Amino acid sequence: MGLFGNKSACELCGKKLGGLAFKYELKEGYLCNDCGLKAGYIPLTTISKYKTVEDVKKDIDEYDDYLLYKANLVENFVPARSINNLLLVDEANKLFGIPQGKKKDPKVFEYKNLIDCDYLEDGNSMTGGGLGAAVAGGLLLGGVGALVGGITGNKKTKVNINKMQVVLTLDNMREPSITIDILPGATKKGGFIYNSYFQTVQNLLSAFAIILEDNAKSSDLISDSKGEFVRNDDPTEQLRKYKSLLDDGIITQEEFDSKKKQILGL
Ligand SMILES: [Zn+2]
Repeated sequence: MGLFGNKSACELCGKKLGGLAFKYELKEGYLCNDCGLKAGYIPLTTISKYKTVEDVKKDIDEYDDYLLYKANLVENFVPARSINNLLLVDEANKLFGIPQGKKKDPKVFEYKNLIDCDYLEDGNSMTGGGLGAAVAGGLLLGGVGALVGGITGNKKTKVNINKMQVVLTLDNMREPSITIDILPGATKKGGFIYNSYFQTVQNLLSAFAIILEDNAKSSDLISDSKGEFVRNDDPTEQLRKYKSLLDDGIITQEEFDSKKKQILGL
C-alpha cells in the first residue's frame, strides 16, 4: 500500500478492482463493493473517504451486531394489532412494525426507538411539529383529534391534497426516519375519500401517541426544555426533572429527597 493507496485492489479483501467496478474511496486506497456493503456503507455517499482499513473493520463488526439485533426483533415480533395494515403492534414485547409489502419482513422497532411522530399534508406539518411535545406536555389527553382537528372542519376551501404522510423520527442514525404514505393519489380535502384516509391518519397518530406516552412513563426517557424526548442516562438530568416536579408542587420535598438518594445511590 503506497501513500496514496492502491487503486487496483480492495484494501480489505484484496479483490481486484477493475476500472469500472464500483468502489468506495478510503482515506488511503479503495474498498470493493462487497466489503462496503458488509460495513453498511451506502453507495455514492462519501463517508468512506474518512475511514482507514481499521475503521472499516470496526464498522463491519458494528454493522454485523446491528443486523443481528434487527433480525432478533423480527424473530421476536408477535403483533396482536394492526392499524389499517400500515402499523403492526406487539404490546406484550413493546415492539411495532411497519409492513413492507407481502413478501418482505416488516421493519420492526422497539417502542423506545420512537422519538417523535408527525403528520404531513403535502409536506406541511399538521401537528405543529410532531406529537412528542404534546405528549410530553400532557396535551394529548383529549386525543390526537384535538391536535389535528379542525383540519377537516373547513369545507369551503376544497383544495387538492396529493400526499398524506405519517413520519416517524427514530433514535437510530442508520434509519433516522420512516415515512408511511397514506394516500394513493390526489384527492379533495374534506371530501369523502380524504375523510376516510384521515380516519386512518388519526388511528395511526393515536397508536403512536400511546407508544410515545408509554416511553415517557418509562424512566429512561425525559422531556427536555423544548418538550422533546431525550434518553436519560444522566443522573444530573434526572435530578433536574425531579427538581422541576418539586418546584411545580407535583411531588413533595420528602419524595424528592428519597428520589435524590436513589438516583445518586446514597
Ligand atoms: Zn473487499
